[in-house]
Amino acid sequence: SDHSLVYPKSPADMDWAGLYPAHAVKKHETKASHDLSLSEEESRALKAITKNVEIADIGCGFGGLLFALAPRFPDTLILGMEIRISVTEYVSDKIRALRSQHATSAAQDYQNIAVLRANTMKFLPNFFTRSQLHSIFLCFPDPHFKQRKHKARIVSYTLASEYAYVLRPGGIVYTITDVRDLHEWMVGHFEKHASFLRVASEEYDGEGESDVRERVRIMRTETEEGKKVERNKGEKFVALFRRVEDPPWP
Ligand code: SAM
Repeated sequence: SDHSLVYPKSPADMDWAGLYPAHAVKKHETKASHDLSLSEEESRALKAITKNVEIADIGCGFGGLLFALAPRFPDTLILGMEIRISVTEYVSDKIRALRSQHATSAAQDYQNIAVLRANTMKFLPNFFTRSQLHSIFLCFPDPHFKQRKHKARIVSYTLASEYAYVLRPGGIVYTITDVRDLHEWMVGHFEKHASFLRVASEEYDGEGESDVRERVRIMRTETEEGKKVERNKGEKFVALFRRVEDPPWP
């Protein structure tokens, strides 16, 4: 149940500086910023984040994707979102441990990843502003096999509209699953959505180096679920969808 979850009223209400402390700066060097009697909310308002999250991993599970993306895209802030409390705590403890292990390095390793407990089917636009993200990962979403459970899938026409809102034109939704039916479901919903075009596989498979290829390679090999599928010699279905420019008003 997610009754205990709290949602920010808007992205500006998020404590980004708390999630990415190495990327936070004091807004003003004022007397107030040294005032220990400030409430948490008041002291938060004095800190700003120097850049925005640009990659979201929806239903990040145990965070394998985050930990693999972190060193590969060190200048990008990456956020994992996960609904299960214990799993979110595991990921956040691991991030804290990795940060302190690397605390002496100048590279600020693992300061670019964070995890947040949330039901991403609700209020995604409360977390991110319009066009904020360049990549959204949907890795091995729960398949919810039964017909009457399909509404629990994290892809639907409505959710595709929310992903389109937070994704910038040119940005990409990356999907992977070992369940053929779910793959076809995701492809169906994104393909019929006017804000998305499927990315041709030549762009992410085969020879050559690019960020998109690197992200797909990591997505195929580094998530916990992906590793499980690998061990069981299962098949992995990948599909990418590019956010297109909004059509001009008639
Ligand atoms: N992406 C990870 C991977 O590839 O290893 C985890 C895959 S696991 C099968 C699906 C994850 O999505 C679970 O950890 C589950 O708790 C999470 N999840 C399901 N529905 C969610 C929701 N509405 N909001 C956030 N997380 C959700």
